[in-house]
Amino acid sequence: MSAAVTAYLLLGSNLGDRAALLATAREQLAASAGEIVAASALYETAAWGREDQPAFLNQALALRTALPAQELLALCLATEQRAGRQRLERWGSRTLDVDILLYGHEIIDAPALTVPHPRLAERRFALVPLAEIGGAVLHPVLGLSVAELLENCPDPLPVHRLEM
Ligand code: AMP
Repeated sequence: MSAAVTAYLLLGSNLGDRAALLATAREQLAASAGEIVAASALYETAAWGREDQPAFLNQALALRTALPAQELLALCLATEQRAGRQRLERWGSRTLDVDILLYGHEIIDAPALTVPHPRLAERRFALVPLAEIGGAVLHPVLGLSVAELLENCPDPLPVHRLEM
């Protein structure tokens, strides 16, 4: 068992009962992957990459986990599968997406896993929720905090915090 690290995940859904799908994903990750030590609000965000699809709900989680990153990825993918995820097209609609944004300060460049997530700095829909729970966390490749990445982010797509 490795020492625990804090991983930051991003949940996303734009099909079906989006809030319920995110809630189920949180329960499954808490039961299988580690302790959720922080969760952002839910944000409604315009679809990135392919804009002709419904808006997403996104949420960032901080997960304290003893799992190696590859095992955490396997659980993220299993959680997507249980939500009925089908990969029909790149950046298409999906019931559930679970991405690993950061895994401690590790830099991972494996065939099936790149951490920090390679498009994090370009995506306001990821940076806004992540900044809510981890604004001071440093991006280990770019050397900037999440809050600084958000200030510099050129992505114009809207991100609206949902009031609970
Ligand atoms: P997507 O459907 O666009 O979310 O891509 C999912 C695939 O990206 C997964 O099968 C992973 O193998 C791969 N992947 C690479 N890096 C990451 C990451 N940091 N978090 C989640 N998936 C990743």
